[in-house]
Amino acid sequence: MAFGEEYLRLLGEINDLTGEVTGVTIVDAYFGPENLSPEKTKRHSPPEKLLANLDVLIAEAKETEDRLRRIAIISDIESIRVVVRWLSGEDIPYKRLVEGIFGITPLKFGQREISRAQHAVDDASAKLPGSDVADRILRWREENKITGDTLKKTIETDVAGRTKQIEKLFTKRIFRYFLVKVENRGIIYKTVKGEPWGAYNYYQGNYASINAFNIDRTFNKHSLIWTVCHEYEHHVANLFKEKICRENNWLDLAAVLLHTKRSIIDEGTANCARDFLHLQSDEDSSELLESLRDLGTMVDLNAAYMQNVEGCDEKTAAEYKASEAFLPLEEARKQLAFSRPLTSDGKPNFWKPYIYTYFFGRRDYVLPTFQKAQKKDKLREFFQTLYLNPYSRSTSTWESAFSNI
Ligand SMILES: [Zn+2]
Repeated sequence: MAFGEEYLRLLGEINDLTGEVTGVTIVDAYFGPENLSPEKTKRHSPPEKLLANLDVLIAEAKETEDRLRRIAIISDIESIRVVVRWLSGEDIPYKRLVEGIFGITPLKFGQREISRAQHAVDDASAKLPGSDVADRILRWREENKITGDTLKKTIETDVAGRTKQIEKLFTKRIFRYFLVKVENRGIIYKTVKGEPWGAYNYYQGNYASINAFNIDRTFNKHSLIWTVCHEYEHHVANLFKEKICRENNWLDLAAVLLHTKRSIIDEGTANCARDFLHLQSDEDSSELLESLRDLGTMVDLNAAYMQNVEGCDEKTAAEYKASEAFLPLEEARKQLAFSRPLTSDGKPNFWKPYIYTYFFGRRDYVLPTFQKAQKKDKLREFFQTLYLNPYSRSTSTWESAFSNI
């Protein structure tokens, strides 16, 4: 069997394993031939067999001619290998798990760094009413929150219009650098409840997506557009992946996977989309929003560390999050669903390592390279590489792929 077909066949088995053990499947989207779809596989070999087959696949992948493609594929398979070891019951400490999948070592931000981020929030909120920074932010959050039925209504009405604006900005700021056009059948929005995340891009294949918003979660009126933009970027990135996969019949691109080193670049890029587009949030609150986002991310990562490395219970982690990031306790508790060790029904939480992708993808890879490209007048090269070379989108290949910038 050819490499691409064998790869998809094995992914099917691993997809079945991840679904069985965690309730979440590792294949996030698929746009290859119907008969090879890994999403259709409903059985898997024992883990030892899966690991042995992955090793055979790595040996075969070493024959891949194109350097970036070879590095990206091997790196993907190595990450998947760690996922299989984890979900087949091997006792892998959280730090090793995140390192094995993403090549990132979880560390805790020190209190000095957290205090610095809190001071930035304090400064940015100085004009708001309230007795101290925590009081000011809690009041401001309450006044500007959007959740439940109100959120549902906003998604059904305003968000489609805002998406059109974002689409136009993509054309103006990014697609202008491309000679090729990509098909885009657009996005359908839907609202959901009870998910561990706030919003999600379900790429459907055939150049269309369903973007879901979780109305159990609380968003802020001023920053909702950032989330819309983040999810829209996932859609655009997948449009190009699908186009390139179809044109070249590169089966290794046909399945978009969670939990590989591509995820770090995918999330980092989605988090930078508003920088690419020069998307302005409300002028008055932009400094506050930025400072809250920085603080929130650091506290989130610390809470993940406390729960998964230090064995801290959920109540303590929620209280920590609420007091350090100035959040209502109930909201802090809901947000922990993404990084808690086990799901509410006692399964391993598939998402718990994934929380490390967003911050590091933005801070260490996508944003600095984008800023460098801006300075050196190389945005054309930057966007062409990022969207037209799918093998640039992995931390294993990033440095080589962007060495021209
Ligand atoms: Zn995302």
